[in-house]
Amino acid sequence: MNTMLFQKEKEIAQSAIVAAMEITRRIQNGFSRGDMLTKADRSPVTIADFTVQAVVCKILNERLGPVAIVGEEDSEALKKSENRELLERILSFASAGQERLTPSQLFALIDLAHSPHGESFWALDPIDGTKGFLRGDQYALALALISGGQVRIGILGCPRLLRSNRGRSSAGFLFSAVKGEGAEALNLATGMSRRIHVSRRRERSLLRMVGSYESSHHDPRTQEKISSLLHLRQAAQKLDGQVKYGIVASGDADLYLRIPNPQTPDYRENIWDHAAGCLLVEEAGGIVTDISGKKLDFSRGTTLNGNSGIMASNGLVHSLLLEAVSHSL
Ligand code: AMP
Ligand code: MG
Repeated sequence: MNTMLFQKEKEIAQSAIVAAMEITRRIQNGFSRGDMLTKADRSPVTIADFTVQAVVCKILNERLGPVAIVGEEDSEALKKSENRELLERILSFASAGQERLTPSQLFALIDLAHSPHGESFWALDPIDGTKGFLRGDQYALALALISGGQVRIGILGCPRLLRSNRGRSSAGFLFSAVKGEGAEALNLATGMSRRIHVSRRRERSLLRMVGSYESSHHDPRTQEKISSLLHLRQAAQKLDGQVKYGIVASGDADLYLRIPNPQTPDYRENIWDHAAGCLLVEEAGGIVTDISGKKLDFSRGTTLNGNSGIMASNGLVHSLLLEAVSHSL
């Protein structure tokens, strides 16, 4: 694949995520308790997760021809009669402004993200940080093109991200990166796009760390130990989903640490939870590894089963963090 091809693919992926972000904002504003389900693994899924997956699959497929997509959700739960109301809500959001989809059309769109795929495919997390979405907090729409085990394009939509020092915006940010081409952030409130770069901070006491909001997704005790070993002055900022990578890539934080929770030792990170964010930080000049310093390996199926935990940084303080991590474990 050449760069020109990526340009077209990047633009179509961006437009799919922007269209879906518009829908998630509407869903989050009018959210009611009946708009969600609990999955078999006891994690929540909402009408926004299904709607985004359908809309993004539809746009990618229509505009790029048949493409392979690996996505987090499937349509099984929506086929049950007890979820009829939920299905109706998804159909109306997913069909907005167009001819109304039939249930079977919707199921087929959602399940496009489970079609067989070769070595080149899109990885989609329709709502990364569903728990944050439900709390009215941060969440991200994450889409990445993976080819030959490498992330080539990473797009992150962060509808609730504000820039504290640049005025209030309510439309959020769209982060994009293409391998070898750098990273950019589009402020959706102003329409202004800029190249982004990780911070240049090295001074330990000034370093800013981000981590998961959900304590079950990491090891809070060890992470606090590491923060104090590093003499960080500020407590780690807790955020849902890959918004954390966006914040490190744009220099607003210097470190993102995700030590596996000892209570879920068999948990493996999903590729769609990290692919877009990883490329974004790397293309912004940072470094992303697991907690032993190994690069993330996206060539091993739908999980990062060759890696344990995540460390992303501005690069300058990566070895410092690695040292603190190995000292604490
Ligand atoms: P975050 O908000 O960064 O914790 O990311 C949310 C993601 O954490 C979800 O998409 C889940 O796939 C993932 N997740 C769920 N359970 C775990 C776990 N035990 N350890 C690490 N991540 C998890
Ligand atoms: Mg996720």
